[in-house]
Order: sequence, then structure tokens, then C-alpha cells
Amino acid sequence: PLAGLAISRLSTAAEASPIYKSSPPRVRNLIGGEFIESQSEASIDVINPATQEVVSRVPLTTSEEFKSAVSAAKKAFPQWKNTPVTSRQRVMLKLQELIRRDMDKLAMNITTEQGKTLKDAQGDVFRGLEVVEHACGMATLQMGEYVSNVSHGVDTYSIREPLGVCAGICPFNFPAMIPLWMFPIAVTCGNTYILKPSEKDPGAAMMLAELAMEAGLPNGVLNIVHGTSETVNSICDDDDIRAISFVGSNTAGMHIYARAAAKGKRVQSNMGAKNHAIIMPDASADATLNALVAAGFGAAGQRCMALSTAVFVGGSKSWEEEIIKRATALKVNAGVEPGTDLGPVISRQAKERICHLIQSGIDSGARVVLDGRKVVVSGYENGNFVGPTVLADVTSDMECYKEEIFGPVLLFMQADSLDEAIEIVNNNKYGNGASIFTTSGVAARKFQNEIESGQVGINVPIPVPLPFFSFTGSKASFAGDLNFYGKAGVQFYTQIKTVTQQWKDLPGQGVSLAMPTSQ
Ligand code: NAD
Repeated sequence: PLAGLAISRLSTAAEASPIYKSSPPRVRNLIGGEFIESQSEASIDVINPATQEVVSRVPLTTSEEFKSAVSAAKKAFPQWKNTPVTSRQRVMLKLQELIRRDMDKLAMNITTEQGKTLKDAQGDVFRGLEVVEHACGMATLQMGEYVSNVSHGVDTYSIREPLGVCAGICPFNFPAMIPLWMFPIAVTCGNTYILKPSEKDPGAAMMLAELAMEAGLPNGVLNIVHGTSETVNSICDDDDIRAISFVGSNTAGMHIYARAAAKGKRVQSNMGAKNHAIIMPDASADATLNALVAAGFGAAGQRCMALSTAVFVGGSKSWEEEIIKRATALKVNAGVEPGTDLGPVISRQAKERICHLIQSGIDSGARVVLDGRKVVVSGYENGNFVGPTVLADVTSDMECYKEEIFGPVLLFMQADSLDEAIEIVNNNKYGNGASIFTTSGVAARKFQNEIESGQVGINVPIPVPLPFFSFTGSKASFAGDLNFYGKAGVQFYTQIKTVTQQWKDLPGQGVSLAMPTSQ
């Protein structure tokens, strides 16, 4: 009943917003500062994963509409590029204030469309907000370098200039944080932008765009087009788009990386993961148990930094009972209900896929020590719920280990030594994150040194770096060479220009055709 109330309030508010029209509301594109209804007849339903209610419909943007969004971004670029960086920063300063103001509305939209709990949805917004805050210091971040008198009377300096029109393609699992990893950095560097939100939960991106306009972002600087692979292919192929940020699965990410690179574009592609935790026998028991349960089952396992595999050095048996106790105590319910720990997974297909991977693990010899497949949530019987699930005795040849499950399923593996545990992690194709739980500095240092993951946790379960660092997934979890946000993010969205100048009265030296050298 509470959820129903909250959702109907949201619908009423949504219908009054310029983004939406009719019932169920159709999400609009944002082109040149106008929220425009797409002419396309084809659309996809955005479904509340706790209730199956159709929240809104996402149009499959037509190719003309896509072109007009790119042309609006192209038109806005020269003036925006020449807007002082201090003015661009001020838009971000205002945007961060507005995001704080509307935090609850944003979180409610995320919970309605994506399913995560309201508290987790606030975290989703907050982790994106931190990137907006970071973008407020762009003048310093974008600074070039200067070396005076590299030769007599000659100075060299570098300038970081915006690229032009850039684009971002988003996944469903962080509807606010990931758009905020993308456009705030890009536009504060002076670029203009085309954002394609996930077709599964576009609402938060639309609200953020409204806030960006309210904050003073000029028309055409941020544009939004909806759709799926066809829109994505148009982004990859468009000659006016210079750089693409992608976050999502490996299938889509590698396709986009190859297709856009063939057109000479820059691409940063953050993709799938299988994050491991190595648990040493000397780990602090209580903190480690809490970390494993939180990072394994939080957001119903739908985080690219979820800890989905625990490798116990010395065996898992002594840990199993306590983990099961803590996992069983978690409350599975709709994200709007107070006290919920795990909401539903995003879709019926996602639930089927997760259940299939659990069964395939059991069929190939894994021991199911906790089975969440049959969970029933009273009042939300149609929701895509999967309860916390634990498979023990998992080996690296099993399908449930090789595939990214992206659900609330924790796999237990065993290793006889730290060396063997590190080998297991390093043999996995993904390299997003890995953690160790230990009280031994020697073990921790060895782990940090030898592990091949791009983000390392030491007694920390989800080591997502704050925006003054970058999100540094590696191996199959990332394609490109400049990561999201931080210094690398600014480099990604700018072109470096190196200027060499000479200002001195030159005595006549005649013509020399020899290669100039610094004297
Ligand atoms: P997805 O790849 O299905 O969708 C992501 C985006 O790509 C969407 O906008 C979608 O419209 C588009 N898309 C999907 N298939 C496409 C295709 N064949 N061609 C062109 N475009 C296509 O991913 P998802 O299910 O929304 O998100 C979950 C995935 O994202 C997981 O694999 C997760 O690990 C990953 N993820 C990674 C990070 C990271 O930083 N490494 C962060 C969040 C999520």
C-alpha cells in the first residue's frame, strides 16, 4: 500500500513534468534545449521490477531525430567552448545544489524503475553527485603545462581543448551515477553531449537533464536520445561525434569499441565483471562477514563492483554457517518498503537467467547452501525477486563461475594458499576489482603487488575510487586507455595541443635546413 501511494505520487508528478506526456507517459528526447515527443511509433515499456507496472514508455528515436540532436550539439559547441571555464564550473556548482534538493525525487524514480532500495538509490545519486562536485574544479583539472626557455627565447606550453560533440551510452544498474560519470566532466571541459540512457530506466537521466537546464546549461549543450542498438550504432557511425563513453555488458561494449574506433573515435568502455574476495584464515571475522554479505547481495548483486566470488584460503566450511545466518536475515522486498535489504532484479529475463546459472552450478557439482530462487514477497508476488543464494565448492570450469551472474548469488571457492587464490583470480578474464580480507600486512602487500585487477580492496569490499582518482577496471572489464573521471576522464574529453613560441629579437642567422635542436 505504501509503495502504491508513493508510485502514484510519482506518476502524478511525472505527468506534470515537461519530460512526460499521456498515460503511461512516453519519455521525451531532449534536443536543442526542448523536451520533444519522438515521432517514432516504436517504443519499449519501462517496467517497475517489483510490480510489473508499466511506468513509462521509451521511444526508439528516429534517425532524423538523432541527426537533429547531433546537429543541435554541433551548433552549440563553438559558443560553449568559448564560454569561460569559470562560468562552466558555475553551472556544475548550481547543478550539485539542485541534485541535493531533488535527491529524494531522484531516488524514488530509481527505485520505481530499477528496483533498488531507496537508501541504495540515494547512494546511486550521491556517487554521481561527487563527480559533479569534482567537475566544479575543472579550471585546475584542465590546466596545461609550461616550460619556459626550452631554447633561447623559446617557450613551450600545452593546452587541453574540448573535442566537440561527445556521447555517452548507459547501463540500467546505476541510472543516476553513470550518466553523472559522463556528461558533467564532458560539458565542463567545454564539449557538447548526446546521452543515451538505458532503455530500462531512463527517468533519472531525464530528471538530471532537467536539473542541468535549470542550473543554466545552455540549449544544445546536453541532448538526450532514447533507443537501443540502432541508436547506439548511429552514435558509433556519426562523423560529428568525436568520443564515446560506454558502460554496460561486454557484448555491447566490445561492439561499440570496435565500430566507433573504425570511425576514428575515442572510446572508453567499462564492461562486465567477476569480482573476487580472498579471505585469509586470519581475517577479522565480524567485519569480513558483514563485508561479504553487503557486497555480495547489495543492490541484489547488480553492481559492477559486487563481490560475487569468495575464495577462502583454508576452506569455506568454518565461514558458511555465519554467512548463511547473516544472509538469511536480509529482508527481500520492494525497494520502496522500509527495512528492505534487497529489491528485485531488473527483469523477468534477468531472473530466469540468474536461476538458470544457479541450476547449472548445482548440476555441475556445486553445493547450494542457501537457495533464494523460491522467495515469495507478499504484496509483490509478481516482482522479479531472487533471494540471497550461496553456492559452495564452485570450481573455475563451471558456467556459474565463468559467466557474470549479476544477481544476488555468492560463489564460494577454496584455495590451499594465498598463491593459489591469487592464481584463481588472475586466471579470470575480468579485472574490475578484487579484495583481500586479512590482518597480515605481508599478505595484503603481496596481494596488492600480484593481483591483476584494476581496483584493489584491502579489507574493503567495494573499492570504487572517489572522483579525484579514476574508475580503473582492467583486462576484459575495460577497453580503451583513458578511464572514467579523475585526471584520466579530463584527458579523455580533451585534446592536448602543444604550443611552441619564440619571442625575441633575432640577429640575422641565415637559413639553416638542419633539424632544429635546443641550444
Ligand atoms: P547492456 O550492455 O545490455 O546495455 C548497456 C547499453 O548498451 C544500453 O544503453 C543498451 O541500450 C545498449 N546496448 C545493449 N545491447 C546492445 C547492442 N547489442 N548493440 C548496441 N548497444 C547495445 O548492459 P546492462 O544490462 O544495461 O548493464 C549491466 C552490465 O553493465 C553488466 O555487465 C555490468 O557489469 C556492466 N557495468 C559495468 C560497469 C563498470 O564500470 N565496469 C558499471 C556498471 C555496469
